[in-house]
Amino acid sequence: MAGLVVDCHAHNITKAIYPRELFVGRFTLPRFMVNGLCDAIEDGLDMCLPLRLAWKFLPGKLQRFENLIRLYLGTMEDQARALHAAALSAGVGQVWVLGLDIPDVGNYGPVSLAKNLQAQLAVLEALPGMTGGVLVPFYPFDPRRDGAAVSAIARMSGGRFRGVKMYSALGFNVEAVGDPKAAWSRNMCEAFEAFEAEGWPVVVHCSGGGIRGPEVHEGDMKWLSSPERWRPVFKRFPKLRVCFAHGTGEAGFLTLPNPKPNSWAWHLRDLMLRYEGVYADVSFHSGMVESPGKYRMRFEKVLSDAVRRRILFGSDAPLCFGEYSYKHLISAARESVPGLDTVLASNARDFLGV
Ligand SMILES: [Zn+2]
Repeated sequence: MAGLVVDCHAHNITKAIYPRELFVGRFTLPRFMVNGLCDAIEDGLDMCLPLRLAWKFLPGKLQRFENLIRLYLGTMEDQARALHAAALSAGVGQVWVLGLDIPDVGNYGPVSLAKNLQAQLAVLEALPGMTGGVLVPFYPFDPRRDGAAVSAIARMSGGRFRGVKMYSALGFNVEAVGDPKAAWSRNMCEAFEAFEAEGWPVVVHCSGGGIRGPEVHEGDMKWLSSPERWRPVFKRFPKLRVCFAHGTGEAGFLTLPNPKPNSWAWHLRDLMLRYEGVYADVSFHSGMVESPGKYRMRFEKVLSDAVRRRILFGSDAPLCFGEYSYKHLISAARESVPGLDTVLASNARDFLGV
C-alpha cells in the first residue's frame, strides 16, 4: 500500500555550524562566484554587475544557487521552516535532519563551531515541536568529545533525538573500538552498547566525498569512510543498527546485488547479509533526476535482491538545492525509485524502530 515518503537524510547547515570555506567548496560554480554571491547577500546588496550578466545566461541554476546561499546565510530556524514547507509541498511525511559536529581547531576563520554546537542542538531538539513531527532530529555524535557517550545516551533516552549521526572522515577510525590506548574509543563502546540494547539507530557518512576533518589528509578520507572499517564494530555489537549514508555512491550502490569483489559495495553487501542492523541510504544520486528510466531499471534489481529491506531513501537537502528544488527532486524520485513510498518507507520505520 502506498504511503508517505520518508526522507532519511537531510541537514540543517548555516554559517554558524558549517564554515563558509567548506560550503563554498561544494559548488560546481567557481569559488569566486559563490564567495561574491555570499558577500553580496551578506552585505544586503543587490547582485553585482558580473553576477547579473552571468545570471542572464544561467538563470535557473543561479537562482537556485542564490536560494541555497540565502538558506546557508540565514538562521537555523528559517532553514528548518523552509525544509518543512518543502516537505509538505512535496508530499514527504518525515525528514530526518542529521546534526553536524565539525571539530573546532580555530582555522575556520571567525566561526566558533564548538560554541555553536549547543545552539545547533537546541534548534535540532525543537524541530519535532516546530514541525508537528515532520522533521526528526539526529544527534551529532563525535566520540572524541569529552562525555560524548553520556550526552548522546541522555538525549536519546529523553526522546529528544531519534538517533545519532557519525562522520568518521572528520578524523576518527571506528576500528579503534575497544582499543584501550584510544581513550575516546571508550565513548564509542559505551554508546554502541546502549544503542544496541535500545535499538537506537546510527547514521554514518559513507562516501569518498563530503567534509574532511581539519587534520585529515585528503587520501585518508576515503579509507576512514569505508564500510570495511566497521567490521570490528559489528563483531562486538552484532545487532547495532547502522545506516551507511550515501550507500557508497551511485555506481557502488546500484551494484549491491552483484558487486565487484572487495569494492565498498561488496563489503556493504557482506555486512548486510551477516548482520541484521546494516542499512544504506541513497542520498543523493543525480541519476534519479537525470536519467529516471535507467535508474529505475537498475534500482529494481536492488529491490529484487536479498538486500531489499535494508535500503533507505534520502535527499541530502538542502545541499542538493543548488541543483534541484526539493519538489522537483521528490517528484523525479517518485518516477525513478520503485518502492519509494512503500518498501523504502517501511524500511525507514524498521530502521528507526517504530
Ligand atoms: Zn548528507
